[in-house]
Amino acid sequence: MRSFRLISTVAVLGMAATSFLACSGGGGTGTGTGGAATTTDTSASASSTSAAGTGGAGGSGSGTTAATTTTTTSSSSGTGGGGMVVPAGEDFTRDILTTDLELDLTAFTGKATITLAASTTSKAASFEIGDLDITKVSDDQGALDFATKVGPHGLLQLDVGVPTGATPAKVIVEYTFKKHTMFDGWMQTEQLTFLWPYFCGNLYPCKSDPADGVAFTMKVTGAAAGMTAVYPASIPADAPSYMPAIAVAQFTKLDLGKTTKGTQVNAWFLPGQDADAAAGTAHLKQVFDFYEKTYGDYTFGATVGSVSANWGPGAYGGMEHHPYWHVGKDDFKSEEVHAHEAAHGWYGDGVRIACWEDFVLSEGSATYLAARSLGTMGVDLFKAPGGYECQLKNVCDPAKGQNTIALPSTCNVIDILTDPLWSNVPYMKGAFFYQAVAKAIGVDVLDSAFAGFYKANVGKAAHMQAFIDYIKTKTDVAGAKAVDDLATAWLKTLDCPVDYTTLCP
Ligand SMILES: [Zn+2]
Repeated sequence: MRSFRLISTVAVLGMAATSFLACSGGGGTGTGTGGAATTTDTSASASSTSAAGTGGAGGSGSGTTAATTTTTTSSSSGTGGGGMVVPAGEDFTRDILTTDLELDLTAFTGKATITLAASTTSKAASFEIGDLDITKVSDDQGALDFATKVGPHGLLQLDVGVPTGATPAKVIVEYTFKKHTMFDGWMQTEQLTFLWPYFCGNLYPCKSDPADGVAFTMKVTGAAAGMTAVYPASIPADAPSYMPAIAVAQFTKLDLGKTTKGTQVNAWFLPGQDADAAAGTAHLKQVFDFYEKTYGDYTFGATVGSVSANWGPGAYGGMEHHPYWHVGKDDFKSEEVHAHEAAHGWYGDGVRIACWEDFVLSEGSATYLAARSLGTMGVDLFKAPGGYECQLKNVCDPAKGQNTIALPSTCNVIDILTDPLWSNVPYMKGAFFYQAVAKAIGVDVLDSAFAGFYKANVGKAAHMQAFIDYIKTKTDVAGAKAVDDLATAWLKTLDCPVDYTTLCP
């Protein structure tokens, strides 16, 4: 995403997390009915005998955030014989291969058909379900036993009993979802989704760990008459859970043509944005062409483009919802944001981050690649008014209080929404790290490192340190030492190895 200037949204995101954590303490996050009485069991043949006991336990614990084990719902069906049903259990390690998602934007109903990698040992699968109300969980043989309780980030989790098997298992979850207002799910007023960083569960059963990758199909119904719903019918390669997105509006589609490799590039803009769309996408097809030719084939589909996201006044930046990434309405004229979000198709989405602490692998890379691509077309993002140099000056000036370490050494210890890392630092120090590396070892050598690492890791999760080590293999001993020194200075300490007072005069 490119939301460092999105001051209002940064604040909103922070508030969203706080409000959710506050809500979860009351135990009523799931259905709003409060207390332990959050049973959403609609199965007529439910045979659970434990609901009363666990409900009581939840009730006794409500009012403190420690009461995070309020199992609230248990449901099973007699089809196929009650004795054969695998009891609900927790297992967050099951690999989700694909999620086929059907959403009705009028009825607020969803159906997720989730295919799990085969397991001959696990009898369970767990998913984050935010504030969804689960109505039915089944597979091709009939109903599956399930339970819900408070899980990661204070949001609900769904535990399902899944038969073992030598072939991939299927879990079909039917549910209703809620309207959201805080950039944390389906935003009814704005008619779009926003799921970063860990709000996917408010739209569909998922795992928000950034390392997890899933392929998707999507089918969206219920958009208002006369409106266009822009969403990908298929995301054929593994993507992070926050990547799938929907935007509904009176869009005009701008055909920007095909790249050399045949990818169709479009833009979808809102009424009155003709000039902004023309300015912002002036080089977008060439930028995408540059990425494909320089770094490797794109994996998220044959048609791509920028979608103008009506996030409200003062909402700038963008969000890497490939293949139809969102660019804030007020930034749709910004070539930088279009190029930045497009770059996430290679780094951030194509290669996912292994931990939130690897944020710089996503954001520093996208920031650099946007400048690298547009730089070949005469657009200098580093020296532009208000550009990277001006932003680095703010990052490095102690009086601004922005500076932090761009690459922390932990893994998924931080909460990205509340940690200092959620700042402009990984964007700017990351981009200037790469710029310094390009000067030290050659811009083409660094390009070949981006390409080689992408080809080796596309569809997978990776650490920033692994990329640093990979870059070193593309140069000589002196170059490798320079890369290490630059990584230490720019990414692993509070240093700003530049006289920031000379920047952005
Ligand atoms: Zn970004």
